[in-house]
Amino acid sequence: MQRYFVAAEQFGDSKVRIVGEDAHHAVRVMRTKPGDKFIVSDGQSRTALVSVLEATPSIIKAEIVEMMDNDSEPEWAVTIAQSLPKADKMELVIQKGTEIGAFAFIPFQSERMIVQYDAKKEAKRIERWSKIAKEAAEQAHRSRIPVIEPLHSWRELMKSAAEYDLVLFCYEREGHLAHGRGIRTAVQQWASRIDAVSNPKVLLIVGSEGGFTDREAAEAEAAGAVLVGLGRRILRTETAGIVGLTCLLYESGEMGGA
Ligand code: SAH
Repeated sequence: MQRYFVAAEQFGDSKVRIVGEDAHHAVRVMRTKPGDKFIVSDGQSRTALVSVLEATPSIIKAEIVEMMDNDSEPEWAVTIAQSLPKADKMELVIQKGTEIGAFAFIPFQSERMIVQYDAKKEAKRIERWSKIAKEAAEQAHRSRIPVIEPLHSWRELMKSAAEYDLVLFCYEREGHLAHGRGIRTAVQQWASRIDAVSNPKVLLIVGSEGGFTDREAAEAEAAGAVLVGLGRRILRTETAGIVGLTCLLYESGEMGGA
């Protein structure tokens, strides 16, 4: 069934409103008419089955038939912190990460970052990334849109590490490739140390094309991160976050099966 996300203020107690591009898409492309049913979510906590009352390309009014459970959200809230990559690779990370089940994304600056960051373009970029997250969340039948945080400096990222239950720093250095800890070991060691947390917050830190410096790895460790390898092959920056996220959600029992 078709799904739409609306802003919280468009989601009333008994009615919802769909406006803008979504209304246009629903009427012009999906041929939505009164009596049709679809699913609407406020992107945070509320999801409902609704029935259309009025449909024009600029606004759709619909009444709530029943509230639904948000059962497509992973138990683990995994945030991907991605050192800003070249060109449109961040879009790929956001699109695929959202499909797989990422909770949020934090673009950040690191020493070996290759791109020249243009602060003037930041607002536009976040707007575009948020749109990609929204569309991917709709497509993936999620009930929550991952948040795209503003660009963090390395220092800000290290400071925010304290807010997470588990922080993993993906480190490609050779020593770590051959002998280092992988995600499974890191998760098991962490789980054996703590009392069960029902919705753990996990931060997965990924370097850009240039990788990380030893200093950054040491600082991340000092901030509480566990250095992990993702296997013996070097993954491209846009692959590493997607793979790390998948491994984490697999370990949490999220990816189907018993
Ligand atoms: N330029 C680096 C590779 C960077 S890969 C080099 O040639 O060594 C980009 C980022 O992806 C890395 O900083 C790391 O965070 C992650 N990554 C890629 N492959 C990895 C692996 N096998 N183990 C852990 N992290 C990896």
